[in-house]
Amino acid sequence: ITEYAGRDVAVFGLGRTGLSAAKALKAGGARVHAWDDNEETRAKAEAAGLTLSDINKRDWQTFAALVLSPGVPYKFPQPHRIVRMAEMTNVPIVGDMELFARAVQALPERGRPKIVGITGTNGKSTTTALIGHILKQAGRDVRIGGNIGTGVLDLAPLHANAVYVLELSSYQLDLVKSLHCDVAVLMNITPDHLDRHGGMEGYQAAKMRIFQNQTERDVAVIGFDDVITQSIAIGLSANGPARVLQASSTYALGRGVSAVDGRLYDSCNGQAQYIGNLRDCMALPGRHNHQNAAAAYAACRSLGLDQQAIMDGLRTFPGLAHRLEMVGEIDGVKFVNDSKATNAEAAEQALKAYKNAYWIAGGVPKAEGIKPLAPLFPNITKAYLIGEAEEPFSATLRGQVAVQSCGSLEKAVAAAFKDAKAVGDENPVILLSPACASFDQFRDFEHRGDVFRSIVQSMMPQEIKEL
Ligand code: ADP
Repeated sequence: ITEYAGRDVAVFGLGRTGLSAAKALKAGGARVHAWDDNEETRAKAEAAGLTLSDINKRDWQTFAALVLSPGVPYKFPQPHRIVRMAEMTNVPIVGDMELFARAVQALPERGRPKIVGITGTNGKSTTTALIGHILKQAGRDVRIGGNIGTGVLDLAPLHANAVYVLELSSYQLDLVKSLHCDVAVLMNITPDHLDRHGGMEGYQAAKMRIFQNQTERDVAVIGFDDVITQSIAIGLSANGPARVLQASSTYALGRGVSAVDGRLYDSCNGQAQYIGNLRDCMALPGRHNHQNAAAAYAACRSLGLDQQAIMDGLRTFPGLAHRLEMVGEIDGVKFVNDSKATNAEAAEQALKAYKNAYWIAGGVPKAEGIKPLAPLFPNITKAYLIGEAEEPFSATLRGQVAVQSCGSLEKAVAAAFKDAKAVGDENPVILLSPACASFDQFRDFEHRGDVFRSIVQSMMPQEIKEL
């Protein structure tokens, strides 16, 4: 990133993306002033080789830009002190994705890599990884990152023949103006993170920014399984400029890709062609994953892959950790780690995928709780609750589902296994799909899922462990 060579730039928020932004700016010749409010994060940044500089004490008139981490409140619930400082001193605020986008725009048109952006309330990571995997299998030079895995500025230097497959959070999109996605994928929009976007309108507006700068040569792949994205798809189809392809696991579509009951139809050219059944060939379970596959198929078709290459990619995709991840089976009881399900919609997909669930849920509940899950309560054989959500969740479940308050994840797994084994009925699944954030008991959802996996592993008979 040479845009700020020889100038002073403030970088605030030194998590994964902040660190990569600071390094990329420094490598491009900028004088970087990197800071974070959190002492532990600062120490980590220093250990990673960064020189800190307290931007609270600097003369802001000298800063050419403030690079803000997407984790820092930008406008809502209220702007962070640092954001206000930048606004008062007229220092432009950018994010790492914006720096990347400008670096791409600065290249001659024929030397620009292709960019596939993926956003949505749920399914971003799975669809990003799936698209990346399919392209890689097909022999393309692929860089996968953004909100998943590697920060975008840590992805190898820009290369004209590469395809960048980027997961974009709504926070990142809020800080981006120049991004141009050759293929923009919007999976779904349901209420989440509303506090940070000032309500549903702001959240939707942030998601819509994925289509900014698109032209008639580009493609917008839009989910068609919720009412908000349905109306966005219809609106964009009418008004353009990008070509719209719908992706659905619920409806047979006019133009796009559908996968009702796993039956994949390619209608990208307006005529439906049956391709195959995802249930027979894809490792990922559940209707929501059929939608993710449909979206990935549409995106890869738009990049010129043939049907066979895409199906080969779908067939060989191993799935992602913490998302309906099968972590073991003991005495006919399966253990599934869906720790990533931090809200009710995500847990809903898990409960749809399993009909005899010994459901472990809880943590820090979201505002909507688990009331929206009521239609799926029949799939829950018994619920095992942990963390701060124990009381509100058991109040919602009472009288409809057997409930046990367990306190810790260890106790919940032990209790669920005891019950599932004793009942001896068909296809029991111990499902960790918490419908909650994790930070009352864990560092993050990955930590929660890792703990679950290691509890299960410690329960395995020795001979299985050694296999
Ligand atoms: P994100 O990166 O958007 O959080 P993930 O791919 O990590 O999404 O999936 C998170 C959870 O969301 C999954 O565990 C699953 O329960 C749910 N989910 C995944 N794909 C979809 C989809 N297309 N529609 C609704 N829910 C989904």
